[in-house]
Amino acid sequence: MNLESYYQKALEFDKNDSLASFKYQFESHDEIYLDGNSLGRLPKKTIELTTDLIQNQWGKRLIRSWNEHWMELPNKIAAKIAKIVGAREDEIFVGESTSINFYKLAYAALNFDNTRKKIISDSLNFPTDLYVLQGLIEQQFPSHSLKIIESKDDICITEEQIANELDKNTAFLTLSHVVFKSAFMYDMKKINEMAHQQNAFVIWDLSHAAGAVPIHLNDSNADMAVGCTYKYLNGGPGSPAFLYIRKDLQEKLINPIWAWFSHQRPFEFSLEYQAKSTIQRFSTGTPSVLSLAATEPGLDLLIKAGISNLRQKSVLQSSFLLEMVQQYLVPIGFSIASPLNINQRGSHISIQHTEGYRINRAMIEPFDSSKPIIPDFRPPNNIRLGIAPLYNTFQELYETVVRIKQIVEEKQYEHFSQEKLKVT
Ligand SMILES: *Cc1c(COP(=O)(O)O)cnc(C)c1O
Repeated sequence: MNLESYYQKALEFDKNDSLASFKYQFESHDEIYLDGNSLGRLPKKTIELTTDLIQNQWGKRLIRSWNEHWMELPNKIAAKIAKIVGAREDEIFVGESTSINFYKLAYAALNFDNTRKKIISDSLNFPTDLYVLQGLIEQQFPSHSLKIIESKDDICITEEQIANELDKNTAFLTLSHVVFKSAFMYDMKKINEMAHQQNAFVIWDLSHAAGAVPIHLNDSNADMAVGCTYKYLNGGPGSPAFLYIRKDLQEKLINPIWAWFSHQRPFEFSLEYQAKSTIQRFSTGTPSVLSLAATEPGLDLLIKAGISNLRQKSVLQSSFLLEMVQQYLVPIGFSIASPLNINQRGSHISIQHTEGYRINRAMIEPFDSSKPIIPDFRPPNNIRLGIAPLYNTFQELYETVVRIKQIVEEKQYEHFSQEKLKVT
């Protein structure tokens, strides 16, 4: 198919897109944003909501706002996240960062049966999770060990590799549902079943999955999970993370950080700690009200659009993009670093080129009248093209491939230094 036909196809897809109007609910400028898997766009409603929150709830009502609005806020937001990840609302705690929540769950799982000494993860996992595990072992569980299953192609891991490691000595297995570099996606239900046969827990990291692919924590009998809200959920930079524990496990697990918000009656100020019996036993201190409240409009938009509709669009979009990459970018030195099988792929596509970093810079900072295109870069040479079906169009994907082709053919990347910026 020639470029003109792809262009016509893109316009056709956009015309028939039932979610097309959602993009107008977000702030946007004359650029193509393909990094919604790292920091989602700002919903217009969030501007209104945070202005009111600051001027009225904080500015005028002050401490009274705790009873009027803020004490119930964590549960209100948790109920919305529960809908997106297929859990009950009393199984979600929202607050703190993904790393901290992961620490709490990993500790709880190790403490549950201290005779099981093995933790399993993989080389595709997000490093913060692996760092947390290394720290736990070094500081508190010195007789435990961490097995990191190596990916053979840096794109995926087979179920057989996982099965080979699971045994009766395994405390838990922890994986990203969708991995951050290649977008490889695990079959959650199958993996849970495999681990449960050995009575091992699974802790899922949903950061690159929540809001991008359907997640059925309850239906797949998941034990525990964490995830962040600033990627596909559009909660804002550093917005609070979430944690899931299946209902029947909650009272059996212990939060390593005992604090007043996880106490049964925080406002009695008793000197003896008594853990709550609900999911709130995994909270610690005062919620970050401003950033917590700011997550609501993003969640509402996702729920309104419907995760299965979003997935349907994302599948069409990533397939369209891959087809163009194969036809126009592979012949000029790119390779595809994401699974080709859509059932094993989340919502972003990684492409590699030996000049990946400088091509990525040239996309972001064009020196002619080209539209800026914002992907991100992950070492050694991955350009990640994040598709957020809530606001990306097919035409944008078409324009991206055409622009990358131009940058490479005209060697525009040569104007940029190899030196990496602080945030890539
Ligand atoms: C983005 C991301 C995180 C981020 O952790 P924070 O503690 O919120 O910074 C963790 N895990 C995965 C898989 C991620 O993609």
